[in-house]
Amino acid sequence: MSEDIKGQYVLANRLTEIIDSGRIGHAQLFEGKNEDGAFAMALAYVQYLNCQNKKHYHEGEHQGLRADSCGECPSCKKFEQLMHTDLHFVFPNAVTPKVKGSSVSSDDFQEEFRDYVLSTKARGSMGSWFRHLGIENKQGMIRERDADNLTKELSLCSYEGGYKIVLIWMAELMNNTAANKLLKTLEEPSEKTLLLLVSERSEGMLDTILSRVQRVVVKPEVDDSAQSLSSKAQACTAEERQLFVDWLRMLFKLKMTNLSEHVDKLSTMGRERQKIFLGYALEVMRGCFLNSVAGLPVNLESGDEKFDAAFPRMIGTGNIEMIEQSLEEAMYAIERNANPKITFMKLSFNLSRGLKR
Ligand SMILES: [Zn+2]
Repeated sequence: MSEDIKGQYVLANRLTEIIDSGRIGHAQLFEGKNEDGAFAMALAYVQYLNCQNKKHYHEGEHQGLRADSCGECPSCKKFEQLMHTDLHFVFPNAVTPKVKGSSVSSDDFQEEFRDYVLSTKARGSMGSWFRHLGIENKQGMIRERDADNLTKELSLCSYEGGYKIVLIWMAELMNNTAANKLLKTLEEPSEKTLLLLVSERSEGMLDTILSRVQRVVVKPEVDDSAQSLSSKAQACTAEERQLFVDWLRMLFKLKMTNLSEHVDKLSTMGRERQKIFLGYALEVMRGCFLNSVAGLPVNLESGDEKFDAAFPRMIGTGNIEMIEQSLEEAMYAIERNANPKITFMKLSFNLSRGLKR
């Protein structure tokens, strides 16, 4: 799977960790653009889940990827061809010149869909799928019939002893009747079943559905940490970058007197600047992580070579997840107009705790 999700290893590591720990939610939503790998990540996820010979790597190997499906066991082979009997797809569809009638559903197009996904490496757009299906002029939808079929599918036992999986691609194109039926299925999950939703515009989905799924956000890929860091760095002013580095040093030592003064500065930057600042912080932390586990270049630009060399080693598999989560929470809080002073103070404590791990 690693080829399909290049540039998404931080997220992939978080997902394989969840699978390994057995805390697998029965309904999950992968949110993000197909071109950024949201669908590819969902497919890699289910392949890993059912792989009979999961590979685990040592730190520093495989560019920081901690685990991967083997690609060779019978289950993996079937997943790679999208031919696994326990994997069922639901996607927008419509009456085509070949398939007519009022009862048309995803079940009528499983083969076309497999061909399409394999040929686009799961990165195609909705428009290109509709062209592939020959329904350019019609609105493809996920309808009641699809919801009925997927409920039936999930009620069956797995054929091969693993998870029974239904994957809904472009879940935002579900009509209301289908969505309400799906809701019932979400409320009464059966054992060892997994419902995966993939969506580019989850804001178009019912809140009642969103509140019942675990959400996995897939962001644009990071091909080269140094390069993407420099574009974020350009969005930050030199002064802000200095603020960031000074902050990291304080967190490292947790000097309280300086910290509260520093948090004052951060909390008066204005929300737009704060968002850019936190985005930059997230990129730097990811860059440091890739530097420490895979030796990829990162430049903190603190003006202090010793610090630039030493700091990235503080970030590893033991704390990257917590650090990312803390930063993302803070971004979310700032977006929702939370009190910036409290937000940055809380974030400072969280990061300092993370760095000590
Ligand atoms: Zn395998």
